[in-house]
Amino acid sequence: MSKLEIPYKDYRKCSLCGYCEINCPTFLEYRDLLKGPRWRVQSTILLDEGRVSLGERVVEALYSCLTCGSCNLKCPLNFNIPEIIVKGRTKANSGVSDFLPQNRFIASQIKKHKNPLGFKSKNRWAEELGIPQKGKTMLFVGCMYPYIDKLEVFLELSLRIGVKRLSSLASLLYKFGFNKAIGNLWRAKENRLYKIAHVLKSLGYELSYLRDEPCCGEILYNMGFFEEFEAHARRFAEYLKEKGVKEIISLSPFCGYTLKEIYPKIIDWWDIEVITLVEAVEERFEGGSIEELRVTYHDPCYYSRHLAIIDEPRMIMERIKGIELVEPKHHGVNTRCVGDGGVELYYPDYAYRVAEIRVRELLDTKARVIVTQCPACIAMIEWVVKKKNLGVEVKDIGEVVFDSMHHHSNG
Ligand code: SF4
Ligand code: SF4
Repeated sequence: MSKLEIPYKDYRKCSLCGYCEINCPTFLEYRDLLKGPRWRVQSTILLDEGRVSLGERVVEALYSCLTCGSCNLKCPLNFNIPEIIVKGRTKANSGVSDFLPQNRFIASQIKKHKNPLGFKSKNRWAEELGIPQKGKTMLFVGCMYPYIDKLEVFLELSLRIGVKRLSSLASLLYKFGFNKAIGNLWRAKENRLYKIAHVLKSLGYELSYLRDEPCCGEILYNMGFFEEFEAHARRFAEYLKEKGVKEIISLSPFCGYTLKEIYPKIIDWWDIEVITLVEAVEERFEGGSIEELRVTYHDPCYYSRHLAIIDEPRMIMERIKGIELVEPKHHGVNTRCVGDGGVELYYPDYAYRVAEIRVRELLDTKARVIVTQCPACIAMIEWVVKKKNLGVEVKDIGEVVFDSMHHHSNG
C-alpha cells in the first residue's frame, strides 16, 4: 500500500450532512450535486466498495474538483476532502484515460521529458543574472512559470475545440517534434522570472538553478497516479541530492505544497528545506516604495488553506510605501479559488466560470492591480482579464517588490 493512501475507514464515516457544499465554488455555481464535495466523497467510497463502476458521472465528480480545500472549513468531521477526492482518482485511474485522454498524454510527457508539456526549460533570466547551475539554495521555478504569459492561448483553445480534441491534436503534433519546435520558437516573456530572481539576489540569497529542471510530479499526484508520482519523486529527490541542493525556494504554491508536505511522507531521507517565495521575501525584505497604487491580493488556495501562508504577503506589502491594499470579500483562509487546481485541464468551461466570479470579486475592490503569487492563478486571472478586456494589471508579488526596489521618486 502506498504511503499516500488514506485508510478507507477514515472517510467512510461521512455523514452525508452536506455542510461542505456551502463553501464549494463548483457546487455554488452549478447547484449540481455531481459538482459538489458530498458526491465526490461518496464516489470515492462507492468505488472503494465496488458499488459503482467508472462512468462519465463519477469521472466528472472526481475530476471537476479544484482541490481548493474550501469545503474542509465546513466539514464537522474535519476531513481533508480534496485528499479523499484525490484518493478517489487513484481508484479511477486505471480506466480514467478512456474518459480523460489528457491524463495519458501528460503522464507520458513527464516520463519522456520530465515535465508535463514536454517543453525545454527557459533559462534566459538565470543566464542574464549570472546565476550558477550548482549551489545549496535552488530557485525552483516549476513547469508553468516560464509559460504563463501564453497559457491563456491554450486555455482558450481548449475551451473552443474541447480538451479531448486538443489533447489528440497535441499527441499527433508531438510525434513530429511540435514540442521542440514550439519550445524553441516560443519567446516567452521571462520578465517575471528575471525580476523575482533579481529580488532574491538583492536580498542576499545565493541562488542556483537547474538547467533542465524536472517537474516535482504534483500533477501526477493530483491526477491520482500515485505509483508514477512516487517513482518520479524518488528520482527527482536523488537528482537534487546529487546536485548538492539543501534548500529550495519554490515559486509555485502547488510545487511548494508537494515538496514541503508530500515528499517527506514518501522519501525517508528527505532533509531539504523548502520555503516559498513569499516566505523567503518576507524574511529579508525591509521595505521599498512605489507611486500611490490601489491593489488587491488574491490568496492562492494552496498558500492560504493548504500551507497556512496568509500573513507573509500582507506583511511584505505593508512595507511598501505607496501601496493601498484593499481586501476582496473572500480572503485569507476564506479565499475563493480562481478555477485552477487542474480543472482547467479537464473542464475548462467550469474553470472559466469559477475564474470569472473570482475576478469580478477582485475588481469590486476598485484596485488597479491584482497581486498574487501563483503561476496557475496568474494564468487564470489573465485569461479572464484579457478575454473581457478589463484593463487591470495582474502581478506576482515578486514583481511588485522588484518595482518597489527600483522606484525613483520625482519629489
Ligand atoms: S476542494 Fe474545492 S472544488 Fe473540491 S470539493 Fe472541496 S470546495 Fe469543492
Ligand atoms: S461535510 Fe464532511 S461529513 Fe458532511 S457530507 Fe461533507 S464530507 Fe461528509
